[in-house]
Amino acid sequence: MDTNSLQEQQTSQHRGNEHAPVTVIGLGLMGQALAGAFLRAGHPTTVWNRTPAKAEQLVAQGARLADSVGDAVAAGPLIVVCVSDYDSVHELFDPLGDVLDGRTLVNLTSGTSEQAREMAAWAAQRGSTYLDGAIMATPPGIGSSDTIVLYSGPQSAFEQHEPVLRNLGPGITYLGADHGLSSLYDVALLGLMWGILNAFLQGAALVGTAGVDAATFASFAGQGVGTVAGWLPAYAQQIDDGTYPAFDSTIDTHLAAMDHLVHESESLGVHSELPKLVKALTERAVAEGHGGDSYAAMIELFRKPSGARP
Ligand code: NAP
Repeated sequence: MDTNSLQEQQTSQHRGNEHAPVTVIGLGLMGQALAGAFLRAGHPTTVWNRTPAKAEQLVAQGARLADSVGDAVAAGPLIVVCVSDYDSVHELFDPLGDVLDGRTLVNLTSGTSEQAREMAAWAAQRGSTYLDGAIMATPPGIGSSDTIVLYSGPQSAFEQHEPVLRNLGPGITYLGADHGLSSLYDVALLGLMWGILNAFLQGAALVGTAGVDAATFASFAGQGVGTVAGWLPAYAQQIDDGTYPAFDSTIDTHLAAMDHLVHESESLGVHSELPKLVKALTERAVAEGHGGDSYAAMIELFRKPSGARP
């Protein structure tokens, strides 16, 4: 594609053209879902995957399978890449020369904020505009009304391509110009997810010793998660203010209850490492003088590297 037609395509996209072309590189479970969503929305979609057979279904739905990564990139102004990791992105794009010049690369591969910032610098050296993104969904959720995709990078590029990217999920969120933000939110939210899931599994194991099935516990657990979610705004306010008056419960009170969880787990023969870890962290907060504070004061621990002492 010559520079003029690339500019024409970018201009038509800027007007919110519903049929702007898009390229998807990487057709694993997620990449196939992304390309499928663009196709369903009527975007001419060029695809490429290291294992070409994974493109078959998409080609049957109207996608064009490019012969090479370079061919796929050259097909249009907007390139979406979603492969296993950033090293694979480099492996694919490093040999390409200047074909990315003037195009926008949207990287939905999971990684760290450092990798995202490095990739942004790499793209800038090649004349490419770079948006980093993080998908808060599994492949079947792509395109559905509650799917959220987080983006960071230049706001103008985000706004230019938002009409196309919106097809992946209307819950589209622009976080800011710092390319690292979407990865940072991603890992923070993954940590939240694992915290909830592991606590649920620990609880299911505990009540399971009394013959209670996981489905019964799940309804109680769901309500508990909702209750705790309701506490977050007040705790967040304390964290932002840097003061932790115990308006609901002190850390000392939490610590006493943690003892019950540890002992119950040990006496019932249920795994106890997670409750012990939580208890050890809480004991450190007490040792640092936060026993009379609200649980939000635990942030003082989380802000330090592991192993740091008061
Ligand atoms: P996947 O099904 O394992 O697909 C991995 C993709 O990466 C395939 O297209 C694979 O190509 C490609 N790939 C890996 N190494 C490569 C290399 N060296 N050169 C070229 N291509 C390479 O994984 P996925 O579920 O699609 O996940 C892709 C990304 O989305 C990951 O970063 C993941 O964390 C993120 N993500 C996934 C989910 C999810 O629920 N699946 C949710 C959010 C984010 P081949 O087909 O040739 O092997």
